[in-house]
Amino acid sequence: MPIDWTDQPPTDQPWQSVRLLRCPEAAALSGITLDYPMSGCPTHYAAGRTRPCQGKTCKYCLDGHTARWHGYLPLYNPVTGRQIVLELTLAAASDYRRQISAYPSRAGHKLTVRRASKKPNARVLLSIEPAPPNGHPLPDPINVRQYLEHMWGVDVDPTEPTRSSDRPTEHKRHSLRTPPGDSPRDVANRLAEACKP
Ligand SMILES: [Zn+2]
Repeated sequence: MPIDWTDQPPTDQPWQSVRLLRCPEAAALSGITLDYPMSGCPTHYAAGRTRPCQGKTCKYCLDGHTARWHGYLPLYNPVTGRQIVLELTLAAASDYRRQISAYPSRAGHKLTVRRASKKPNARVLLSIEPAPPNGHPLPDPINVRQYLEHMWGVDVDPTEPTRSSDRPTEHKRHSLRTPPGDSPRDVANRLAEACKP
């Protein structure tokens, strides 16, 4: 297939500046919640990356990789004006659902994740609290499912029922292994300024 050269960067990728992040090991990560439901699906950690489980024909399942459910949420960083997609463990996703239900709407609250200890695989603690009003309107959330499909390079067959869901599933417990991601320092540096009152 020939290369599709262009002399302009594409302008139709609203998520090109969006980062996919998980809870750092040694710092808290905060953002403002947006009006988008948590989306999640079973995933595999294979070949150094998190990949979506693709059901009956999933090559990772066939290769014996354990599936772990992960939830994904868009968060807004009011300092950078950018959105991130936060990956949540099953336990943190359950905490999110329980806590967000106490608010009349999903959007506009300060969400913070941190680890219970300094161990890399320590449990992720999630808290939601009212965000101080700053007078700026919240952006429209990016479409997290489309973003992840783009990131994962998944061809979505519209005739296939999706395995995504907006609530955690309990049928498979995740292992304690955490995939390597951004270093804690990288994440801390980028997001230390987020959500200052
Ligand atoms: Zn699979």
